[in-house]
Amino acid sequence: MPSATKIDFEPVIGLEVHVQLKTASKMFCGCAVRFGEPANSLTCPVCLGLPGALPMVNKQAIEYGIRIGLALNCQIAHRVKFDRKNYFYPDLPKGFQISQYDEPLCFDGELQLPVSDSGQPKICRITRAHLEEDAGKSIHMGASTLVDLNRAGTPLVEIVGGPDLRSPEEAYIYLTTLKRNLSYLGVSDLSMEKGSLRCDANVSIRPRGQAKFGTRSEIKNLNSFRAVRSALEFEIKRHTEVLQSGGSLTQQTRLWDEDKLETRPLRSKEEATDYRFFPEPDLGFFDVPRQWVETVRASLPELPEKRLLRFLGDFKLGRADAEYLVGDRALADFFEACIGLLDNPRKIAPWVVTELGRELNDRNAALPDLRLTPEALVELVQLLDAGKLNNITAKEVFRDMASSGEPAAVVARRLNKLIEQDHGEVDRAIADVLAEFKDAAVADLRAGKQAALGFLVGQAMRKLRGKANPKELGPKIEAAVKQP
Ligand code: ADP
Ligand code: MG
Ligand code: ZN
Repeated sequence: MPSATKIDFEPVIGLEVHVQLKTASKMFCGCAVRFGEPANSLTCPVCLGLPGALPMVNKQAIEYGIRIGLALNCQIAHRVKFDRKNYFYPDLPKGFQISQYDEPLCFDGELQLPVSDSGQPKICRITRAHLEEDAGKSIHMGASTLVDLNRAGTPLVEIVGGPDLRSPEEAYIYLTTLKRNLSYLGVSDLSMEKGSLRCDANVSIRPRGQAKFGTRSEIKNLNSFRAVRSALEFEIKRHTEVLQSGGSLTQQTRLWDEDKLETRPLRSKEEATDYRFFPEPDLGFFDVPRQWVETVRASLPELPEKRLLRFLGDFKLGRADAEYLVGDRALADFFEACIGLLDNPRKIAPWVVTELGRELNDRNAALPDLRLTPEALVELVQLLDAGKLNNITAKEVFRDMASSGEPAAVVARRLNKLIEQDHGEVDRAIADVLAEFKDAAVADLRAGKQAALGFLVGQAMRKLRGKANPKELGPKIEAAVKQP
């Protein structure tokens, strides 16, 4: 039996990401862009593709496209040119999609990934990001296909990444990094569930060290970033098995089957010529003056990579906390608003990361759903610092504040948690506890069993209904016990 020499293959991956823009109206008509409306209620002669209807360009969509391009360090074209991409499908009423072929709005960009497989930051090229319109939705029911054209004509930006990724994990990091960047721009919902973020994955393998790329598959129907990773793993394994056993691959478009966890062929990959691209005759060119580009650039927020470095450097936060905050722009903004009121990042961070994070998680909510203000949270931290709340009652007050939106002191008083400076009450509680446990814990403590102290502090706290600072109670009880 001949022993096959195993070749060491290296995966090559490039991703195409479609981002639905959340403009008020569609790309070439005045119909509203909205999800979940009755089928075909958001349509007009233009997006229905009726003969004679003429498109008009949505300037907001171009501006959102420029925003995305700039955030990805792209060059921005001096003019917008649209092309027709011809193909036939029930959800494409015109028989063509208006897209951009040879002159993408944005090109030659890059995305920096925080870490790669080698543990080093890595640059992935962004080949282009172009504007196009979305198709409608085909709904397959038994033997029949229904068509909903509400989505037809929704503006999209397609972001084409270079063939620079070398593992499914890097592809996953690319997607999370890209999504995080885009989330700062406010141009899309970025929901894979609702289809406002979609990804096709291209993958091939080649013998390590070989410059030429191998034959690729393009995988569609990927509903989550995890699906992208799993589908790539499957496909790399499939390619490897075919090539190791001396077979050959053909360029294909394949579908990911989420239930069977496998890809299967859909069609052999079409070539650009199959689409018979030509310039859209119903639309002229649109100038993109440099002044417009610079205005958009000036309006960009600080992007996550830069913000992360600032949170690590200036605020001295741990990496996990900083990543968590920066991952959600609203949360990071909230955190910075708190720091503006109380310049103590390391004291504020656990409240925003752990407590607020847990609250959002438990409620499956986003920050704007809560009524918590930075002022309220800072006040809470100050009450805790001043010894008017302890670690336990402060968390109770926090949870109430998150829903009531009331100031910390108001909540603390309403819940009767505020530690008033009534030393008489504290002293009485200690005296009661010492009397109650005279022969038990008190005797133990006198005999040097320090563990008894915790018990006595707990009992005193209970008598005070939590309205005391255990750090103060401990020494007081010890002093009282040691008195002859
Ligand atoms: P097409 O015009 O067929 O869509 P592109 O050249 O635009 O092809 O590439 C589409 C995507 O496929 C890009 O993200 C690119 O990085 C990726 N890609 C191209 N060639 C390969 C390859 N041999 N292996 C893996 N990915 C590839
Ligand atoms: Mg493509
Ligand atoms: Zn319309």
